[in-house]
Amino acid sequence: MIFLDTETCGFHGMPVLLQYAINNGKIYLHEIWRTSIGDTLDIIEAFCKHPDGIVGFNLTFDWFHINKLYNVFRLCPRHWIPEDYIEEIACLEKQARDGVCVLPQKACDLFLHARKGVYQSTLDRKDIRIRRVPKELAQPLANEMNKRIQFNKLYFARRKEQLDNPWQVFDSIDRNKVNDPDFRDIVLKFSPSSGLKALAVDALGVNEDELLKFTDIAVHPKFNPEEIGSAPYAEAIGMPGRWCRTWPDVIQYHIDHWAYSTNGRLYAEKDIVYTRQLYEFFGRPESGDDDSELACHIAAARWKGFAVDIDKIKALRLKAIELSEIAPKSPGRVKDYIWPDLSEDEKLATQGSTGKVVLEEIKTWKLDNGDPHPAAIKAKLVLDARKAKKEIEIFDKIIQAGRLHASFKVIGTLSGRMSGADGLNPQAIKSTKEVRGAFPLAFEDEVLCGGDFESFEVCIAVAVYNDKKLEADLNSYGACPDCIGKDKSKCKGCNGTGQAKRKLHGLFGEVLYKMTYDEIVASKGNKEKDFYTDSKRGVFSQLYGGDYNTLMVKLGLDETTAKDAAERWGHRYPGIKKAQQTILNALQSMKQPGGIGTKVEWHDPADYVESLLGFKRYYTLENKICKVLFDLAESPPKQWTNLRIVVRRRDRDQSVAGAVRSAVFGAAFGIQSANVRSGTNHVIQSTGSSICKRTQRKLLELQPKGIHEWKVRCMNIHDELMVATKKDYLDPIEKSVRETVESFRPIIPMISIDWSKTLKSWADK
Ligand SMILES: [Zn+2]
Repeated sequence: MIFLDTETCGFHGMPVLLQYAINNGKIYLHEIWRTSIGDTLDIIEAFCKHPDGIVGFNLTFDWFHINKLYNVFRLCPRHWIPEDYIEEIACLEKQARDGVCVLPQKACDLFLHARKGVYQSTLDRKDIRIRRVPKELAQPLANEMNKRIQFNKLYFARRKEQLDNPWQVFDSIDRNKVNDPDFRDIVLKFSPSSGLKALAVDALGVNEDELLKFTDIAVHPKFNPEEIGSAPYAEAIGMPGRWCRTWPDVIQYHIDHWAYSTNGRLYAEKDIVYTRQLYEFFGRPESGDDDSELACHIAAARWKGFAVDIDKIKALRLKAIELSEIAPKSPGRVKDYIWPDLSEDEKLATQGSTGKVVLEEIKTWKLDNGDPHPAAIKAKLVLDARKAKKEIEIFDKIIQAGRLHASFKVIGTLSGRMSGADGLNPQAIKSTKEVRGAFPLAFEDEVLCGGDFESFEVCIAVAVYNDKKLEADLNSYGACPDCIGKDKSKCKGCNGTGQAKRKLHGLFGEVLYKMTYDEIVASKGNKEKDFYTDSKRGVFSQLYGGDYNTLMVKLGLDETTAKDAAERWGHRYPGIKKAQQTILNALQSMKQPGGIGTKVEWHDPADYVESLLGFKRYYTLENKICKVLFDLAESPPKQWTNLRIVVRRRDRDQSVAGAVRSAVFGAAFGIQSANVRSGTNHVIQSTGSSICKRTQRKLLELQPKGIHEWKVRCMNIHDELMVATKKDYLDPIEKSVRETVESFRPIIPMISIDWSKTLKSWADK
């Protein structure tokens, strides 16, 4: 196999050095700009032919550069020494996007491999916060935490300045934004690195002090090029003769650096050394897993991009500008705009915030006569204006690029889902017909096909919960919600029969409102009371591990009604409750058998939760912190309990040690309930993500390996797959998709995909 890595001019500019080795052989440092074009093309072709494929670390990055490099260089004469033709080469870059697809025979991405195991903990995660600690014991508590947990340096490797103690003391700001001078918050902020060097220190035991730090050996930052991830070519910013500090203006410094800097070259060589050692450390993972293969495809497709209708995007942009100007957006001005319409009590209820959550709440307010509250109308305008502003930013980026250079992190979240990358998140493009109509995605010589998984989360939930009654109910028929109050003859939801398979939220509505399924459906769209839509908001909270509290918040129910509904739902579908209880039992480390306020017992929790397809979400780090918090709360240091200070925490007087204990337990229980929630989500969302990825990977196998014309490019947005392809590939793609989906039926009996072979645009599906 080929172990490879690149050093590049900027993140999106051009590669300068190509480091590689074949198996355990010599490490080559190929100087791209100082050897002939022909040599570089030959090397890349050899990579693509190697039957054992490539091994790399973060291939969405390196393989993007290989695609770009190959496509730019193949437009040049083979004998050119690129260093002498920088201007000419830069002029060919933009058109090189319409080149060929470059793929290895198979791939192994150790970066993604690390994210599937214990090094998953290096994904970004939320701060841990111990709230309202009496000020006298804040610093001692931070010190005690630091003494009791030794964190791996990896978790803070991206911090600019390293701290002696990662537990920091901050002011304690309550929900009303008031600073309580008697208390402090203790906060642990993560800033993890999952880079190759950080892993080398941790996994391979490379001495950190000996390790060359990139900042010490890299090209001086003043030579970093101007660049944009969503438009990764120099002409997006500059133009021939006036490159505006994009890569053609600065690449000479990079060429010289990687040719002459002894330390730089040593560093570049070490990358291959570490990649090879990590490959051994991980037990030589098998090449060709879904994630590694997708990394190469995403990299190649990012360079080519997807087609957009620029005229339509420009029109949408103008509309968005108009919308963004109908209401103020900044917090101060929004306050001036909305506050005059609020009573004193209502102002208090907002807690002074103009954030999204508060405005969404105000938006639902009504007057006694049922009309919308005047502030509700304004809140909606503000929310719309803010959304429009974000949209304008996305449109600007696309107009600048001329197409959609969609980029993704293959394992972007702890559940294994993809997330957007390189400055433009395709998942954030609005899903309205109007917006998506501006994305044909396929170029002129291509066609678009695609589809999405129907009621995907519900299908997976039914499989996870394995509840026969729920499955039977969802397979029975009731009133069709798609054509209620409309002409049913043209309805796709029921083929004109007026009867469709019953939906989960309708079933939930039956339980919640004690009405029949058809009555719930009949209220859909009713201005006075839409039971159907309200049920929808409630039911997902129940699927994802919410309890009666969530129902109170989401639907504004009183406690008795909410408790009663949750109980009857659990009674009707015992499988749901049982499955959620299993996760609770696995992750619940602290139990209070005697109820709130009684003794807390510790039970060692499970280390991970596994999806139906085996993707593990690890809780090792969270559990470790929880245990330390528990131990500290159970037996605080003697010198703390001896302190004779009384503090007022919440509404009662406590000894200072007692108050610390409450704060520490509060943090521990907070971590635990977040674990249980995310574990419940994980089994559904991660299963869905793996199925989507497998389907995408299988259809992409129709694009031949090696270097070929483009046949198949695919973009995965949540539960949908959009494929730009050639006409004669439409049938094979559909066949592949159907076969892959069928292969999951033993695990997900209700799985189905709505696939269309003739789409005019992304809006068409
Ligand atoms: Zn219908």
